[in-house]
Amino acid sequence: MNLLDMTPEAAAGAVTDWVVAKGEPPYRGRQILRRLWQRPIGAWRDATELPVRLREVLAADFPIQRPRLVTRQVSSDGTVKHLWAFGGGGSVESVIIPEGRRRTLCISSQAGCAFGCVFCATGRMGFQRHLSAWEISAQVREVMLQMDTPRPTNVVFMGMGEPLHNWTNVDRALSILNDPRGLSIGARRITVSTVGLIPALAKLAKRSEQFTIALSLHAADSDTRARLMPVERKYPLSDVLRALTQFRRRVTFEYVMIAGVNDRPNDAEALVSFARPLGAHVNLLTLHPGGSPALRPSTPDTMKRFAAHLRAGGVGTTLRRSRGLDIFAACGQLRLEAEGRSHIEPENDGDVQEETAIGSG
Ligand code: SF4
Repeated sequence: MNLLDMTPEAAAGAVTDWVVAKGEPPYRGRQILRRLWQRPIGAWRDATELPVRLREVLAADFPIQRPRLVTRQVSSDGTVKHLWAFGGGGSVESVIIPEGRRRTLCISSQAGCAFGCVFCATGRMGFQRHLSAWEISAQVREVMLQMDTPRPTNVVFMGMGEPLHNWTNVDRALSILNDPRGLSIGARRITVSTVGLIPALAKLAKRSEQFTIALSLHAADSDTRARLMPVERKYPLSDVLRALTQFRRRVTFEYVMIAGVNDRPNDAEALVSFARPLGAHVNLLTLHPGGSPALRPSTPDTMKRFAAHLRAGGVGTTLRRSRGLDIFAACGQLRLEAEGRSHIEPENDGDVQEETAIGSG
């Protein structure tokens, strides 16, 4: 039985039943549960507050599942990228981005991705498989196990994969991340980023926690968006916009800036018209290498002008600073690198940026 794949509530029930069946006192159950996520261990033998004999039985009955760390790279700017391999096949990436007191961990929800956004390195790989709930949350748990890495303060689903395409497992992973008996990360500090899968958006909106929602927008007119993101043909922006109103909280739009494609004044005007009625905030991201070689990033000056246009139109806008370019930190790039597949060399994109960029997805 894999306790780490259960919600903390279900795991607490399973542990309580097990403790009773073994004739152990109830406080043992609380000790065991704490070692799953609150004070995680790599193996039961490390739970030294438990008797040796109990640790041996726990290891047999509830083996602790862990991924294998394939690569760990540290950028000159402090960004740390991990490539994990899970027994079920496929490798996935997660990136920790320190920024002042904030340590944002960008995690993956799938190995590869089925959505084929043309600017995205992961999109070019195609879809391999969904990650299970424990594989998603393990990316946080494993970082906590590293002695030299402080606990993440924020988690964003902006790594490999479309989280709402894997709703069943992401739903459970959200409980593991947020539950005080789990990894105990506040709901507002957990961001679910999606291309806008309407049926799963409705399910996410039904959850009572105030998770932060980010829409991968990248163009505010349907024709341009459809050229960049095939999903636009199935779930057009007008329908996604209606679906977003279910959340009754501010939504963030992610917008990768691509020269001559979505960075012109009329694109800014369309974005103002789209974002202002929702009171949405826009994050402008630099295009990272790894997607279609035909695409080029907008210049820093163009990004600044675009941001000014949005702000003048009453739309809150942040220019995100690219991080970890020296370690291929945009989603999908490290895995391409590890597999020896082609990538485009990263370019230094100037000094206009003010905050953190994680990836394109
Ligand atoms: Fe998939 Fe996100 Fe990349 Fe699009 S941007 S291909 S949804 S990982």
